[in-house]
Amino acid sequence: MFDFIEELKKLNAKRIFIQYPEGLKLRIQEIDQELQKQGFETVICCEPTFGACDVRDFEAERLGCDAILHIGHSDFGVKSKIPVVYVDYFIDVDPLPILEKEFEKIEKYKTICLFTSLQYVSAMKKVKEWLENKNKKIIFVKGEKYEGQILGCRIDFANKAADCMLYIGTGKFHPLGLALLTEKPVFSLDLEQKKIVNFEKEKMKYLKKKIWYEEKLKEAKTVGIVVCWKHGQNRIKEAFALKRQLENNGKKVHILAFDTVSKEKILGFKFDSLVYMLCPRITDEDFLE
Ligand code: SF4
Repeated sequence: MFDFIEELKKLNAKRIFIQYPEGLKLRIQEIDQELQKQGFETVICCEPTFGACDVRDFEAERLGCDAILHIGHSDFGVKSKIPVVYVDYFIDVDPLPILEKEFEKIEKYKTICLFTSLQYVSAMKKVKEWLENKNKKIIFVKGEKYEGQILGCRIDFANKAADCMLYIGTGKFHPLGLALLTEKPVFSLDLEQKKIVNFEKEKMKYLKKKIWYEEKLKEAKTVGIVVCWKHGQNRIKEAFALKRQLENNGKKVHILAFDTVSKEKILGFKFDSLVYMLCPRITDEDFLE
């Protein structure tokens, strides 16, 4: 787990800014302690970090840090003013009891395409072996760093050979994103709910809501366009282009900028419609509910 210490030493870094996903909070003090033991000064970032699209080089530099340790996310390609060391983080979980119990839901498919997020890459390997022992042919979604590993904002469904798609992980974000791109059945082996979920219903629900929101936008007189200044989520050019387009259709438009957006921060404004131009995860999970 602590291999990254050598990398930080090679950089000659003295003070480290630590970014990590919320799910890792319970282990951060232990990691911080180890870094301090190795002679580094450290600053733990307490703002949420949802992905490697969010590299806080400006903030880190302001606090006198000369490197960032970005835990639990693969390099997104964000250019940073100071070096960033990315550390994989895998959650050790056994998906096989769920698969054994729920297998009949996917039993009829011969070729199964697997996909997951970084934390569950090792869980996906266990699923692969188990399904191969049941004579299933296993293929993968075109991945990021690892085979089958996807990012919610970069889903690229290129694999047409599958009879169905199976996600290993938690939440709706990744399987729903893929369900919207393919006609193939998409399932999620949900490690929290401990069952296999078919995403057809979710997809229909989402598409209906989307149509409803698009209609509301057509009728809206005052519109807010929500943007974010995180490096990898900054879509300000597109936001201004959309603003002009909406204004040409007679609407009053305001651009609202956030670090991390939440419903609470928007309370008090008066808008008929909001358009989110940042991480697609936010639109899907929090605001189309
Ligand atoms: S933009 Fe959203 S989905 Fe993409 S890496 Fe960032 S947090 Fe993840």
